[in-house]
Amino acid sequence: MNVIRRVDDLRAALVPGHGRGARIGLVPTMGALHAGHLSLIQAARNADDVVVVSLFVNPAQFGNGEDLERYPRDEAHDTAAAEAAGVDLLFAPDREQMYPDGFDTWVEPGKIGTFLEGAARPGHFRGVATVCTRLFLLVRPQRAYFGRKDAQQVAVIRQIVRDLELPIEIVACPTVRDADGLALSSRNLFLSPDERVTALALPRALEAGLRAHRSGKDAVRAAREMLDAERGLRVDYVAQADLDGPTLVAAAVVGSTRLIDNVSLVEEA
Ligand code: AMP
Repeated sequence: MNVIRRVDDLRAALVPGHGRGARIGLVPTMGALHAGHLSLIQAARNADDVVVVSLFVNPAQFGNGEDLERYPRDEAHDTAAAEAAGVDLLFAPDREQMYPDGFDTWVEPGKIGTFLEGAARPGHFRGVATVCTRLFLLVRPQRAYFGRKDAQQVAVIRQIVRDLELPIEIVACPTVRDADGLALSSRNLFLSPDERVTALALPRALEAGLRAHRSGKDAVRAAREMLDAERGLRVDYVAQADLDGPTLVAAAVVGSTRLIDNVSLVEEA
C-alpha cells in the first residue's frame, strides 16, 4: 500500500498508475477506522481497480467547542487496517496540504445542509462539502463510497455531484452495527461502559419508530417517547426527513458524546 501525504505526490501516483480504463474508488474518512469504514473499503475493493482511502480529520467540518482536538487519531492502526483491507493508496494529508495558506474557496450546500445536522452544527456541511469536492477533484474517482449512517451527508454529497455535474457515482453503503445494535462510530470510543449501555436507547428508539411506522403510527413520536424516557441521554432531535427516501433520524448526547443514527422507513420489497 502506498501512503501519500502530499497533494503533488497524489497526482503523480494516480496519473501513471491509472492504466487505461482502470477505475478508481474513493473512500473518504476521518480515520480511527472500524468495521463501518471497512465495509465501504470492501465495497470499493469489489467494484474498482484502484482503491483510494483518504484519512483527514477535517477541521472545517467541526464547529467551535466541538470535539476536533479530542477526535480519535491513530494512524498506525489505520495504516495497518487499510493495508489489511486491500487499499492501494492511503492519502493522509496534513491541514496545510488540504487548506494551504490563503485557501479561501468554500462549497456551500443549499437547503439540504440547513436542517437537522446542518442546524445543530452550523458550517458542518460546508466543511464536509468543501473537503469532499476537493478530494473528488484531486483523486478523480469513478465512484465514491459513503455510509448511510450519515444519511444527510449522503444527501448533501449527492446534491453536489448533481449540481456540479461531477462524473462520479456515489455509492451509499448500509450502516454497520455492533452486535448490540449500536451503530459503529469513531466517537463510540469516548463512551464509558455505562454510557455505552445508555447509548443503546438510540438504535432501540429508531427500531420502535420503524415498528410504529409499519403499523401506521407516528414513527417520530414513538422514537421520541422512548428516548425521552431514557435518563442520562439528552435528545437533540428526532425527525422524519427525505434523505434518499423517507428516513427516521435522531441525534442525542450521552455524557459528552454526541451520537447520530437513522433507519430507512422505506418498506423492503
Ligand atoms: P468518518 O470517518 O466518521 O467521517 O466516516 C467516513 C465514512 O464512513 C462516512 O461515509 C461514514 O458515513 C462512513 N461510516 C461511519 N460509520 C459507519 C457505519 N457504522 N456503517 C457504515 N458506514 C459508516
